[in-house]
Amino acid sequence: MARYTDPVCRLCRREGIKLFLKGTKCFSDKCPIEKRNFAPGQHGKDRKAKIVGYGLQLREKQKAKRMYFTQETQFRNYFEKAARTKGVTGEMLLQQLERRLDNVVFRLGFGISRRQARQLVRHGHVHVDGRKVNIPSYEVNVGEGIAIRESSRKLAILEQSKDFASHQPAPTWLEIDRDNYKGKVLSLPKREEIQLPVNEQLIVELYSK
Ligand code: SF4
Repeated sequence: MARYTDPVCRLCRREGIKLFLKGTKCFSDKCPIEKRNFAPGQHGKDRKAKIVGYGLQLREKQKAKRMYFTQETQFRNYFEKAARTKGVTGEMLLQQLERRLDNVVFRLGFGISRRQARQLVRHGHVHVDGRKVNIPSYEVNVGEGIAIRESSRKLAILEQSKDFASHQPAPTWLEIDRDNYKGKVLSLPKREEIQLPVNEQLIVELYSK
């Protein structure tokens, strides 16, 4: 599967908003959006046309897809599953994305970005209900316990992440015990519990054409 390997800050500049892909840098004055908030590339500065209709729907989809680091096919599959699930399709889509194990590890504050949380999962540092799970897209369920493997708890990035997370709002659908590097899924997240600058209705309209 193709993987995005260019600098991720270009993605934020393309969307014109902070997608928070790099952790602490996103909150500092080193964030390129603070200095160069125009599209990347030679003609980036000249592209000022107002985006409407299909373009707007496409940009919302790209934003969500990029924030969770999913590929197009995978994102589409999330949408199709959301459409089959009882409830509001847009909300179900965001719920699917939030239930990804890499996102949950990030929300628990064990990574300063989803990308770093994904690395932790991939490298086998994360356990779900006591067993190693190294699949970032693993879908967590209510009642499951997520923990950092005991032998991994001395990793320097975990200490940095803990400090970073202490300044972020804690998600209400997760129980968090940062001192012991563990947490639990209390419920599935509702729309108001998902902090995401995305209009999911536009994504539904895009895929419903
Ligand atoms: Fe986006 Fe963060 Fe890079 Fe800023 S620092 S452009 S918010 S990834």
